[in-house]
Amino acid sequence: MPNATVIGAGLAGCEAAWQLATRGVHVVLIEMKPHSYTPAHHSEGFAELVCSNSLRSNQLTNAVGLLKEEMRQLGSLIMRAADATQVPAGGALAVDREKFSAYITKAVSEHPNITIERREVVDFPDAPVIIATGPLTSDALAEKIASLPGLQTLNFYDAAAPIVSGESLDMTKVFRQGRYGRGDDYLNCPMNKDEYDAFYNAILTAEKADVHGFDGTQVFEGCMPIEVMAARGEMVMAFGPMKPVGLTDPRTGREPYAVVQLRAENEAGTMYNLVGFQTRLKWGEQKRVFSMIPGLENAEFLRYGVMHRNTFLHSPGFLDANYQVISRPGVYFAGQMTGVEGYVESASSGMVAGISLARQLLGMEPVDFTNLTAIGALAHHVAGCTTDFQPMNANFGLIAPYEKRIRNKQERYGHIAARALNVIEALRSNPLACDFD
Ligand SMILES: Cc1cc2nc3c(=O)[nH]c(=O)nc-3n(C[C@H](O)[C@H](O)[C@H](O)COP(=O)(O)OP(=O)(O)OC[C@H]3O[C@@H](n4cnc5c(N)ncnc54)[C@H](O)[C@@H]3O)c2cc1C
Repeated sequence: MPNATVIGAGLAGCEAAWQLATRGVHVVLIEMKPHSYTPAHHSEGFAELVCSNSLRSNQLTNAVGLLKEEMRQLGSLIMRAADATQVPAGGALAVDREKFSAYITKAVSEHPNITIERREVVDFPDAPVIIATGPLTSDALAEKIASLPGLQTLNFYDAAAPIVSGESLDMTKVFRQGRYGRGDDYLNCPMNKDEYDAFYNAILTAEKADVHGFDGTQVFEGCMPIEVMAARGEMVMAFGPMKPVGLTDPRTGREPYAVVQLRAENEAGTMYNLVGFQTRLKWGEQKRVFSMIPGLENAEFLRYGVMHRNTFLHSPGFLDANYQVISRPGVYFAGQMTGVEGYVESASSGMVAGISLARQLLGMEPVDFTNLTAIGALAHHVAGCTTDFQPMNANFGLIAPYEKRIRNKQERYGHIAARALNVIEALRSNPLACDFD
């Protein structure tokens, strides 16, 4: 039986190990927890979600929804765990983070082809290997990676949102409702104009925590800290995470001026996160300012928001479209460190790397998911981006345009999704091209 090593049991590493193991490769999966933790990880389990418990849209007309469906069809462990541990979140797929991690930890630990080692890797490993140590890779290994010839590493900053306890919310002010009457998965804290203005001013003047090297600008646009948003203009929050559209406060019968939405962290509804409120305000300031939100006056903060520096590789020209180092056959990278952004995107790169390394070890031809699929388009972008390389979410702009001109965007995306799923199906059913079952 061929052997391979996977380093890091996060979203990408667990998916990669699973793909290798299910193809008959013996995997040693090395994880440094619980001996050592990155600043964002806190639990012993694998595939720990460091911030939001949402894996974002589950709709096929959204690129990350399409990516999820492709991964389901390709036998993704991460998607199976997410579907099994989901909590209500409207059109999004959110999970109970503890059950999600426990599901994956159990599946990986019990697989007969996977051996777990709990230790920190400090030296650059030999092939065949998949390095999936994440955006907060421990210092010793990060230094070894950064010194690889021909490689440049880049940084940006990512922040997490606070979590409050369900029983500490004032339900005489908070109302349960989904936007446009779709379900009732969110709790909404309504604000009138005076409350919004006072809140906006408090955020602007609140003290921020010092984050080494952060100059206030190097953030990922899709996950912008709330105070950075506020600094961009008075109405930026109100048109962003605090937008009230599609919500009616049952106490006034009107749309509020702004809302803060809370999403359940677990099935029992004992914990809620503040949606879109990733932040680097000092912890005392978070308590003071976020307690101004109607319904959160006496909120118990179970976890405060924090900001961390993310490191990623300048992958174009360094990795191929299977996430393999071009100059080092058998050495792959996977996850957020390759320049993909997000939980599902990280897992998808682990999937491609795992399938590709397995095929290489089994003497099979490489597989190309092509830029007709979301999973392939992301991998091709990482390998071949020719402009300023920045962390990238799944999006329809990466996928090859639809052959026929269709004006309606949703309809066009529907066709692109159907075409992508046909490509995946064709790959699955062609035994020479793939070994997906
Ligand atoms: C603060 C923060 C907030 C984020 N918020 C979100 C969000 O809300 N939504 C979203 O979609 N994405 C978010 N991201 C981005 C990204 O999706 C996550 O970082 C995701 O966890 C990346 O998956 P991964 O598998 O690449 O790395 P990770 O999930 O970080 O897994 C890496 C694993 O490798 C281990 N490890 C590290 N170094 C070593 C070593 N030397 N030896 C052995 N093991 C090692 C770590 O302990 C960890 O278990 C956030 C990132 C950060 C840093």
